[in-house]
Amino acid sequence: MKITVIGTGYVGLVSGACFADVGNAVLCLDTDERKIELLNAGRIPIFEPGLDALVVHNMAAGRLMFTADYDTAVAHADLIFLCVGTPPEEDGSADLAHILSAVRNIGRRVQRPTILVNKSTVPVGTAERVKRVIEEELGARGAHIDFTVVSNPEFLKEGAAIENFMRPDRIVVGSDDPHATAIMRRLYAPFSRNHEKLVEMDVRSAELTKYGANAMLATRISFMNELANLAETLGADIEQVRRGIGSDPRIGPDYLYAGMGYGGSCFPKDVKALLKTSADHGQDLRILDAIEAVNASQRNILFKKIARFFKGADQLAGKTIALWGLSFKPNTDDVREAPSLALIGELFAANCRVQAYDPVAGIEARRVLLREHGEARCQTLFRMANSAAAAVEGADVLAIATEWKEFRSPDFSFLAAALRHRAIFDGRNLYDPQFVASFGLVYHGIGRAAPM
Ligand code: NAD
Repeated sequence: MKITVIGTGYVGLVSGACFADVGNAVLCLDTDERKIELLNAGRIPIFEPGLDALVVHNMAAGRLMFTADYDTAVAHADLIFLCVGTPPEEDGSADLAHILSAVRNIGRRVQRPTILVNKSTVPVGTAERVKRVIEEELGARGAHIDFTVVSNPEFLKEGAAIENFMRPDRIVVGSDDPHATAIMRRLYAPFSRNHEKLVEMDVRSAELTKYGANAMLATRISFMNELANLAETLGADIEQVRRGIGSDPRIGPDYLYAGMGYGGSCFPKDVKALLKTSADHGQDLRILDAIEAVNASQRNILFKKIARFFKGADQLAGKTIALWGLSFKPNTDDVREAPSLALIGELFAANCRVQAYDPVAGIEARRVLLREHGEARCQTLFRMANSAAAAVEGADVLAIATEWKEFRSPDFSFLAAALRHRAIFDGRNLYDPQFVASFGLVYHGIGRAAPM
Protein backbone atom coordinates (compact mmCIF):
# COMPACT_ATOMS: atom_id res chain seq x y z
CA MET A 1 0.00 0.00 0.00
CA LYS A 2 0.98 3.62 -0.37
CA ILE A 3 0.89 5.51 2.90
CA THR A 4 1.60 9.07 3.96
CA VAL A 5 2.55 9.77 7.58
CA ILE A 6 2.26 13.33 8.89
CA GLY A 7 4.67 14.04 11.80
CA THR A 8 7.97 12.20 12.25
CA GLY A 9 8.26 12.14 16.05
CA TYR A 10 8.37 9.01 18.22
CA VAL A 11 5.01 7.76 16.90
CA GLY A 12 5.21 8.88 13.26
CA LEU A 13 8.76 7.75 12.57
CA VAL A 14 8.29 4.37 14.23
CA SER A 15 4.93 3.79 12.48
CA GLY A 16 6.32 4.89 9.11
CA ALA A 17 9.42 2.71 9.39
CA CYS A 18 7.41 -0.35 10.54
CA PHE A 19 4.79 0.04 7.80
CA ALA A 20 7.64 0.32 5.27
CA ASP A 21 9.38 -2.71 6.71
CA VAL A 22 6.46 -4.99 5.79
CA GLY A 23 6.52 -3.77 2.17
CA ASN A 24 4.47 -0.57 2.03
CA ALA A 25 5.66 2.57 0.23
CA VAL A 26 5.72 5.19 2.98
CA LEU A 27 6.28 8.91 2.64
CA CYS A 28 6.73 10.76 5.94
CA LEU A 29 6.23 14.50 6.20
CA ASP A 30 7.30 16.89 8.92
CA THR A 31 7.12 20.67 9.02
CA ASP A 32 10.44 20.67 10.89
CA GLU A 33 12.79 20.95 7.93
CA ARG A 34 15.86 20.23 10.05
CA LYS A 35 14.37 16.85 10.97
CA ILE A 36 13.65 16.06 7.33
CA GLU A 37 17.18 17.06 6.30
CA LEU A 38 18.64 14.77 8.97
CA LEU A 39 16.35 11.90 7.99
CA ASN A 40 17.13 12.30 4.29
CA ALA A 41 20.80 12.07 5.25
CA GLY A 42 20.01 8.76 7.01
CA ARG A 43 20.31 10.26 10.50
CA ILE A 44 17.67 9.76 13.18
CA PRO A 45 16.64 12.81 15.25
CA ILE A 46 15.51 10.75 18.27
CA PHE A 47 16.90 7.83 20.22
CA GLU A 48 14.81 4.68 19.99
CA PRO A 49 16.50 1.27 20.08
CA GLY A 50 16.70 -0.31 16.59
CA LEU A 51 15.10 2.64 14.83
CA ASP A 52 18.19 3.88 12.99
CA ALA A 53 18.85 0.50 11.35
CA LEU A 54 15.17 0.07 10.44
CA VAL A 55 14.95 3.53 8.86
CA VAL A 56 18.22 3.22 6.94
CA HIS A 57 17.34 -0.27 5.68
CA ASN A 58 13.93 0.78 4.39
CA MET A 59 15.24 4.00 2.86
CA ALA A 60 17.84 1.98 0.98
CA ALA A 61 15.09 -0.37 -0.22
CA GLY A 62 13.19 2.66 -1.58
CA ARG A 63 10.16 2.04 0.64
CA LEU A 64 10.65 4.90 3.11
CA MET A 65 10.93 8.52 2.05
CA PHE A 66 10.84 11.91 3.75
CA THR A 67 9.59 15.31 2.69
CA ALA A 68 8.66 18.70 4.12
CA ASP A 69 6.37 19.41 1.16
CA TYR A 70 2.62 18.92 1.68
CA ASP A 71 1.88 18.84 -2.09
CA THR A 72 4.13 15.78 -2.50
CA ALA A 73 2.90 14.16 0.73
CA VAL A 74 -0.82 14.46 -0.04
CA ALA A 75 -0.36 13.38 -3.67
CA HIS A 76 1.57 10.27 -2.54
CA ALA A 77 -1.27 8.29 -0.95
CA ASP A 78 -4.99 8.05 -0.24
CA LEU A 79 -4.24 6.63 3.21
CA ILE A 80 -2.86 9.41 5.41
CA PHE A 81 -1.82 8.99 9.05
CA LEU A 82 -1.82 11.91 11.48
CA CYS A 83 0.98 11.51 14.05
CA VAL A 84 1.58 15.10 15.14
CA GLY A 85 1.94 16.20 18.77
CA THR A 86 -1.03 17.15 20.97
CA PRO A 87 0.68 18.96 23.87
CA PRO A 88 -1.24 20.23 26.88
CA GLU A 89 -2.75 23.72 26.95
CA GLU A 90 -2.54 25.85 30.10
CA ASP A 91 -5.94 24.57 31.22
CA GLY A 92 -4.97 20.91 30.70
CA SER A 93 -6.90 20.38 27.47
CA ALA A 94 -5.14 18.85 24.47
CA ASP A 95 -3.84 21.50 22.09
CA LEU A 96 -5.16 20.54 18.66
CA ALA A 97 -3.33 23.30 16.75
CA HIS A 98 -0.92 20.86 15.06
CA ILE A 99 -3.71 18.47 14.16
CA LEU A 100 -5.91 21.19 12.70
CA SER A 101 -3.05 22.78 10.78
CA ALA A 102 -2.10 19.41 9.27
CA VAL A 103 -5.73 18.69 8.41
CA ARG A 104 -6.18 22.05 6.66
CA ASN A 105 -3.03 21.41 4.67
CA ILE A 106 -4.45 18.07 3.58
CA GLY A 107 -7.96 19.42 2.87
CA ARG A 108 -6.58 22.14 0.61
CA ARG A 109 -4.72 19.68 -1.58
CA VAL A 110 -6.54 16.39 -1.62
CA GLN A 111 -7.73 15.29 -5.07
CA ARG A 112 -9.17 11.79 -4.58
CA PRO A 113 -11.13 9.76 -2.04
CA THR A 114 -8.99 9.57 1.07
CA ILE A 115 -8.89 7.84 4.42
CA LEU A 116 -7.42 10.01 7.15
CA VAL A 117 -6.26 7.93 10.10
CA ASN A 118 -5.62 9.69 13.38
CA LYS A 119 -2.90 8.14 15.52
CA SER A 120 -2.34 11.18 17.73
CA THR A 121 -4.01 11.11 21.15
CA VAL A 122 -7.01 13.42 20.83
CA PRO A 123 -10.15 14.18 22.85
CA VAL A 124 -13.41 12.45 22.03
CA GLY A 125 -15.11 14.28 19.17
CA THR A 126 -11.90 15.26 17.38
CA ALA A 127 -12.57 13.00 14.38
CA GLU A 128 -15.86 14.84 13.82
CA ARG A 129 -14.06 18.16 14.12
CA VAL A 130 -11.40 17.02 11.65
CA LYS A 131 -14.12 15.97 9.22
CA ARG A 132 -15.76 19.41 9.44
CA VAL A 133 -12.43 21.14 8.74
CA ILE A 134 -11.84 18.97 5.68
CA GLU A 135 -15.38 19.66 4.45
CA GLU A 136 -14.78 23.41 4.88
CA GLU A 137 -11.59 23.19 2.85
CA LEU A 138 -13.24 21.11 0.14
CA GLY A 139 -16.24 23.46 0.09
CA ALA A 140 -13.95 26.49 -0.26
CA ARG A 141 -12.68 25.16 -3.56
CA GLY A 142 -15.98 23.60 -4.68
CA ALA A 143 -14.58 20.06 -4.52
CA HIS A 144 -16.65 16.94 -3.76
CA ILE A 145 -14.38 14.20 -2.54
CA ASP A 146 -15.20 11.20 -0.34
CA PHE A 147 -13.44 11.50 2.98
CA THR A 148 -13.34 9.18 5.98
CA VAL A 149 -11.73 9.85 9.33
CA VAL A 150 -10.61 6.78 11.27
CA SER A 151 -9.33 6.73 14.86
CA ASN A 152 -6.38 4.39 15.36
CA PRO A 153 -4.78 5.39 18.68
CA GLU A 154 -1.22 4.28 19.25
CA PHE A 155 -0.14 2.28 22.30
CA LEU A 156 3.61 1.91 21.70
CA LYS A 157 5.97 2.55 24.60
CA GLU A 158 9.08 4.60 23.99
CA GLY A 159 12.18 2.47 24.51
CA ALA A 160 10.44 -0.61 23.10
CA ALA A 161 8.50 1.11 20.34
CA ILE A 162 9.51 -1.08 17.41
CA GLU A 163 8.84 -4.31 19.26
CA ASN A 164 5.47 -2.91 20.43
CA PHE A 165 4.52 -1.81 16.91
CA MET A 166 5.63 -5.02 15.23
CA ARG A 167 3.97 -7.26 17.85
CA PRO A 168 1.12 -5.21 19.31
CA ASP A 169 -1.19 -6.50 22.06
CA ARG A 170 -4.10 -4.99 20.20
CA ILE A 171 -4.81 -2.61 17.36
CA VAL A 172 -7.76 -0.34 18.05
CA VAL A 173 -9.63 0.85 14.98
CA GLY A 174 -12.53 3.24 15.41
CA SER A 175 -14.47 3.69 12.20
CA ASP A 176 -18.02 4.03 10.91
CA ASP A 177 -17.03 3.14 7.35
CA PRO A 178 -16.77 -0.60 6.52
CA HIS A 179 -14.54 0.10 3.49
CA ALA A 180 -12.04 2.04 5.65
CA THR A 181 -12.13 -0.71 8.28
CA ALA A 182 -11.38 -3.34 5.61
CA ILE A 183 -8.34 -1.31 4.44
CA MET A 184 -7.11 -0.98 8.03
CA ARG A 185 -7.53 -4.72 8.51
CA ARG A 186 -5.41 -5.39 5.40
CA LEU A 187 -2.77 -2.84 6.41
CA TYR A 188 -2.37 -4.37 9.87
CA ALA A 189 -2.60 -8.04 8.79
CA PRO A 190 1.23 -8.47 8.85
CA PHE A 191 1.27 -7.30 12.50
CA SER A 192 -1.60 -9.58 13.47
CA ARG A 193 -0.65 -12.91 11.91
CA ASN A 194 -1.15 -15.46 14.66
CA HIS A 195 -4.34 -14.24 16.18
CA GLU A 196 -6.68 -11.40 15.45
CA LYS A 197 -5.55 -8.27 17.22
CA LEU A 198 -7.75 -5.71 15.56
CA VAL A 199 -10.38 -4.41 17.97
CA GLU A 200 -13.08 -2.66 15.97
CA MET A 201 -15.26 -0.01 17.53
CA ASP A 202 -16.93 3.29 16.82
CA VAL A 203 -14.79 6.40 16.49
CA ARG A 204 -15.67 8.04 19.82
CA SER A 205 -15.02 4.84 21.75
CA ALA A 206 -11.60 4.49 20.08
CA GLU A 207 -10.70 8.04 21.06
CA LEU A 208 -11.75 7.39 24.66
CA THR A 209 -9.97 4.00 24.77
CA LYS A 210 -6.57 5.68 24.49
CA TYR A 211 -7.26 8.04 27.39
CA GLY A 212 -8.83 5.23 29.41
CA ALA A 213 -5.75 3.03 28.95
CA ASN A 214 -3.28 5.72 29.99
CA ALA A 215 -5.44 6.81 32.91
CA MET A 216 -5.63 3.20 34.14
CA LEU A 217 -1.83 2.84 34.00
CA ALA A 218 -1.36 6.16 35.78
CA THR A 219 -3.84 4.92 38.41
CA ARG A 220 -1.75 1.83 39.11
CA ILE A 221 1.38 3.94 39.48
CA SER A 222 -0.18 6.49 41.84
CA PHE A 223 -1.84 3.72 43.85
CA MET A 224 1.50 2.01 44.38
CA ASN A 225 3.23 5.28 45.22
CA GLU A 226 0.66 6.02 47.88
CA LEU A 227 0.92 2.47 49.24
CA ALA A 228 4.72 2.83 49.21
CA ASN A 229 4.56 5.88 51.42
CA LEU A 230 2.37 3.95 53.85
CA ALA A 231 4.72 0.94 53.71
CA GLU A 232 7.59 3.21 54.68
CA THR A 233 5.70 4.50 57.70
CA LEU A 234 4.69 0.98 58.73
CA GLY A 235 8.17 -0.50 58.34
CA ALA A 236 7.17 -2.69 55.36
CA ASP A 237 8.97 -2.95 52.02
CA ILE A 238 6.91 -2.00 48.95
CA GLU A 239 9.13 -4.18 46.72
CA GLN A 240 8.06 -7.27 48.63
CA VAL A 241 4.47 -6.06 48.67
CA ARG A 242 4.64 -5.44 44.90
CA ARG A 243 5.74 -8.99 44.21
CA GLY A 244 2.97 -10.30 46.45
CA ILE A 245 0.30 -8.20 44.76
CA GLY A 246 1.52 -8.58 41.18
CA SER A 247 1.62 -12.37 41.27
CA ASP A 248 -2.18 -12.39 41.35
CA PRO A 249 -3.20 -12.92 37.70
CA ARG A 250 -6.19 -10.61 38.22
CA ILE A 251 -3.72 -7.82 38.95
CA GLY A 252 -0.54 -8.73 37.03
CA PRO A 253 2.98 -7.40 37.61
CA ASP A 254 3.14 -4.42 35.22
CA TYR A 255 3.04 -0.75 36.22
CA LEU A 256 3.20 -1.56 39.93
CA TYR A 257 6.58 0.04 40.54
CA ALA A 258 6.77 2.70 43.22
CA GLY A 259 9.02 5.57 42.23
CA MET A 260 9.21 9.29 41.64
CA GLY A 261 5.78 9.65 40.02
CA TYR A 262 4.84 9.14 36.41
CA GLY A 263 6.33 11.44 33.76
CA GLY A 264 6.91 11.38 30.04
CA SER A 265 5.07 12.88 27.12
CA CYS A 266 1.84 10.92 27.61
CA PHE A 267 0.57 10.12 31.12
CA PRO A 268 0.71 13.62 32.63
CA LYS A 269 -0.88 15.29 29.64
CA ASP A 270 -3.44 12.57 28.96
CA VAL A 271 -4.62 12.45 32.58
CA LYS A 272 -5.00 16.25 32.51
CA ALA A 273 -6.83 16.18 29.18
CA LEU A 274 -9.27 13.51 30.37
CA LEU A 275 -9.97 15.50 33.52
CA LYS A 276 -10.62 18.58 31.39
CA THR A 277 -12.95 16.66 29.07
CA SER A 278 -14.97 15.34 31.99
CA ALA A 279 -15.10 18.78 33.64
CA ASP A 280 -16.29 20.29 30.34
CA HIS A 281 -19.15 17.81 30.41
CA GLY A 282 -20.07 18.61 34.01
CA GLN A 283 -18.77 15.34 35.40
CA ASP A 284 -16.23 14.73 38.14
CA LEU A 285 -13.54 12.09 37.70
CA ARG A 286 -12.73 11.90 41.40
CA ILE A 287 -10.34 8.99 41.13
CA LEU A 288 -8.35 10.74 38.45
CA ASP A 289 -8.20 13.94 40.50
CA ALA A 290 -6.59 11.90 43.28
CA ILE A 291 -4.19 10.17 40.85
CA GLU A 292 -2.94 13.56 39.74
CA ALA A 293 -2.61 14.94 43.26
CA VAL A 294 -0.65 11.88 44.41
CA ASN A 295 1.62 12.19 41.40
CA ALA A 296 2.28 15.87 41.99
CA SER A 297 3.50 15.20 45.54
CA GLN A 298 5.41 12.05 44.56
CA ARG A 299 7.51 14.05 42.10
CA ASN A 300 9.12 15.82 45.10
CA ILE A 301 9.78 12.67 47.05
CA LEU A 302 13.50 12.30 46.39
CA PHE A 303 14.12 15.96 47.07
CA LYS A 304 12.25 15.69 50.38
CA LYS A 305 14.34 12.66 51.36
CA ILE A 306 17.58 14.41 50.43
CA ALA A 307 16.55 17.56 52.32
CA ARG A 308 15.61 15.49 55.38
CA PHE A 309 18.96 13.69 55.26
CA PHE A 310 20.79 17.04 55.37
CA LYS A 311 18.44 18.29 58.15
CA GLY A 312 16.52 20.78 56.00
CA ALA A 313 16.41 22.24 52.47
CA ASP A 314 18.30 25.30 53.75
CA GLN A 315 21.29 23.05 54.50
CA LEU A 316 21.61 21.99 50.87
CA ALA A 317 23.35 25.12 49.53
CA GLY A 318 26.82 24.25 48.27
CA LYS A 319 26.22 20.50 48.34
CA THR A 320 26.84 18.41 45.23
CA ILE A 321 24.38 15.75 44.20
CA ALA A 322 25.39 13.08 41.69
CA LEU A 323 22.36 12.22 39.56
CA TRP A 324 22.10 9.05 37.51
CA GLY A 325 19.45 9.17 34.78
CA LEU A 326 17.70 12.08 33.10
CA SER A 327 15.26 10.54 30.61
CA PHE A 328 11.76 9.88 31.96
CA LYS A 329 12.41 6.17 31.56
CA PRO A 330 15.24 3.96 30.22
CA ASN A 331 16.01 3.41 26.54
CA THR A 332 14.81 6.78 25.38
CA ASP A 333 16.21 10.31 25.11
CA ASP A 334 12.78 11.77 25.89
CA VAL A 335 12.88 14.08 28.91
CA ARG A 336 9.38 15.51 28.62
CA GLU A 337 7.94 15.75 32.18
CA ALA A 338 10.88 13.66 33.43
CA PRO A 339 10.99 13.33 37.25
CA SER A 340 14.75 14.02 37.04
CA LEU A 341 14.06 17.55 35.79
CA ALA A 342 11.62 18.23 38.63
CA LEU A 343 14.30 17.07 41.09
CA ILE A 344 16.98 19.23 39.45
CA GLY A 345 14.65 22.25 39.61
CA GLU A 346 14.26 21.81 43.36
CA LEU A 347 17.97 21.21 43.90
CA PHE A 348 18.76 24.39 41.91
CA ALA A 349 16.26 26.32 44.05
CA ALA A 350 18.19 25.11 47.12
CA ASN A 351 21.47 26.23 45.48
CA CYS A 352 22.67 22.70 45.24
CA ARG A 353 25.05 21.58 42.48
CA VAL A 354 24.09 18.65 40.26
CA GLN A 355 26.52 16.36 38.44
CA ALA A 356 24.37 14.31 36.08
CA TYR A 357 24.95 11.35 33.83
CA ASP A 358 22.59 9.72 31.35
CA PRO A 359 23.60 7.27 28.60
CA VAL A 360 21.61 9.12 25.87
CA ALA A 361 19.41 11.95 27.19
CA GLY A 362 22.16 14.40 28.24
CA ILE A 363 21.93 16.74 25.25
CA GLU A 364 18.15 16.93 25.34
CA ALA A 365 18.11 17.46 29.12
CA ARG A 366 20.69 20.25 28.92
CA ARG A 367 18.61 21.98 26.22
CA VAL A 368 15.51 21.89 28.45
CA LEU A 369 17.42 22.99 31.57
CA LEU A 370 18.93 25.95 29.73
CA ARG A 371 15.46 26.95 28.53
CA GLU A 372 13.89 26.59 31.98
CA HIS A 373 16.65 27.86 34.29
CA GLY A 374 18.84 30.05 32.07
CA GLU A 375 22.50 29.90 31.12
CA ALA A 376 23.90 31.49 34.30
CA ARG A 377 22.18 29.06 36.71
CA CYS A 378 23.12 26.03 34.63
CA GLN A 379 26.73 27.24 34.34
CA THR A 380 27.06 27.50 38.12
CA LEU A 381 24.96 24.59 39.31
CA PHE A 382 24.95 21.96 36.58
CA ARG A 383 27.59 19.71 35.09
CA MET A 384 27.07 16.85 32.69
CA ALA A 385 29.40 13.95 33.40
CA ASN A 386 30.41 11.49 30.70
CA SER A 387 30.10 8.38 32.84
CA ALA A 388 28.24 7.16 35.91
CA ALA A 389 31.54 7.06 37.82
CA ALA A 390 32.50 10.59 36.78
CA ALA A 391 29.16 11.93 38.03
CA VAL A 392 29.93 10.59 41.50
CA GLU A 393 33.40 12.13 41.81
CA GLY A 394 33.43 14.82 44.47
CA ALA A 395 29.69 14.41 45.15
CA ASP A 396 28.08 14.34 48.57
CA VAL A 397 25.35 11.82 47.80
CA LEU A 398 23.98 9.92 44.79
CA ALA A 399 20.40 10.17 43.51
CA ILE A 400 18.96 7.83 40.87
CA ALA A 401 16.09 9.01 38.69
CA THR A 402 16.04 6.53 35.77
CA GLU A 403 16.46 2.76 35.87
CA TRP A 404 18.96 2.41 33.01
CA LYS A 405 20.40 -1.10 32.90
CA GLU A 406 23.95 0.13 33.49
CA PHE A 407 22.94 1.45 36.94
CA ARG A 408 21.62 -1.90 38.15
CA SER A 409 24.81 -3.39 39.48
CA PRO A 410 27.27 -0.63 40.38
CA ASP A 411 30.55 -1.00 42.26
CA PHE A 412 29.27 -0.17 45.76
CA SER A 413 32.78 -0.13 47.26
CA PHE A 414 33.68 2.59 44.79
CA LEU A 415 30.50 4.52 45.67
CA ALA A 416 31.22 4.20 49.39
CA ALA A 417 34.70 5.61 48.85
CA ALA A 418 33.64 8.37 46.45
CA LEU A 419 30.52 9.81 48.12
CA ARG A 420 31.32 12.28 50.85
CA HIS A 421 28.16 11.46 52.80
CA ARG A 422 27.96 7.80 51.72
CA ALA A 423 24.24 7.93 50.90
CA ILE A 424 22.20 6.71 47.94
CA PHE A 425 18.71 8.04 47.17
CA ASP A 426 17.25 5.45 44.86
CA GLY A 427 14.13 6.82 43.15
CA ARG A 428 13.67 3.53 41.28
CA ASN A 429 14.23 0.90 43.99
CA LEU A 430 17.03 -0.75 42.04
CA TYR A 431 18.94 -2.26 44.94
CA ASP A 432 18.62 -4.56 47.90
CA PRO A 433 18.79 -2.16 50.88
CA GLN A 434 20.67 -4.63 53.09
CA PHE A 435 23.26 -5.40 50.45
CA VAL A 436 23.89 -1.68 49.90
CA ALA A 437 24.13 -1.13 53.65
CA SER A 438 26.78 -3.86 53.88
CA PHE A 439 29.16 -1.45 52.07
CA GLY A 440 28.67 1.18 54.76
CA LEU A 441 26.29 3.16 52.54
CA VAL A 442 23.02 4.67 53.76
CA TYR A 443 20.24 3.57 51.43
CA HIS A 444 16.99 5.50 50.87
CA GLY A 445 14.54 3.87 48.48
CA ILE A 446 10.86 4.54 47.89
CA GLY A 447 8.49 2.76 50.24
CA ARG A 448 11.14 0.76 52.02
CA ALA A 449 11.71 0.73 55.73
CA ALA A 450 13.78 3.75 56.80
CA PRO A 451 17.51 3.01 57.10
CA MET A 452 18.89 2.15 60.56
P1 NAD B 1 6.58 14.28 18.83
O1 NAD B 1 6.50 15.63 19.44
O2 NAD B 1 7.76 13.42 19.07
O3 NAD B 1 6.40 14.40 17.24
C1 NAD B 1 5.42 15.19 16.60
C2 NAD B 1 5.99 15.63 15.25
O4 NAD B 1 4.95 16.30 14.52
C3 NAD B 1 7.15 16.62 15.36
O5 NAD B 1 8.26 16.13 14.62
C4 NAD B 1 6.60 17.92 14.76
O6 NAD B 1 7.58 18.68 14.09
C5 NAD B 1 5.56 17.38 13.81
N1 NAD B 1 4.50 18.35 13.47
C6 NAD B 1 3.87 19.25 14.27
N2 NAD B 1 2.95 19.93 13.57
C7 NAD B 1 2.97 19.44 12.31
C8 NAD B 1 2.22 19.72 11.12
N3 NAD B 1 1.24 20.63 11.11
N4 NAD B 1 2.51 19.02 10.02
C9 NAD B 1 3.48 18.08 10.01
N5 NAD B 1 4.22 17.77 11.10
C10 NAD B 1 3.97 18.44 12.23
O7 NAD B 1 5.23 13.54 19.29
P2 NAD B 1 5.04 11.99 19.59
O8 NAD B 1 5.63 11.65 20.90
O9 NAD B 1 5.40 11.21 18.37
O10 NAD B 1 3.45 11.96 19.78
C11 NAD B 1 2.56 12.18 18.70
C12 NAD B 1 1.14 11.86 19.17
O11 NAD B 1 1.05 10.47 19.52
C13 NAD B 1 0.72 12.61 20.42
O12 NAD B 1 -0.67 12.88 20.33
C14 NAD B 1 0.99 11.63 21.54
O13 NAD B 1 0.15 11.85 22.66
C15 NAD B 1 0.65 10.32 20.87
N6 NAD B 1 1.36 9.16 21.44
C16 NAD B 1 2.66 9.26 21.80
C17 NAD B 1 3.32 8.15 22.30
C18 NAD B 1 4.75 8.24 22.75
O14 NAD B 1 5.21 7.31 23.45
N7 NAD B 1 5.51 9.27 22.38
C19 NAD B 1 2.65 6.92 22.40
C20 NAD B 1 1.32 6.86 21.99
C21 NAD B 1 0.68 7.98 21.51
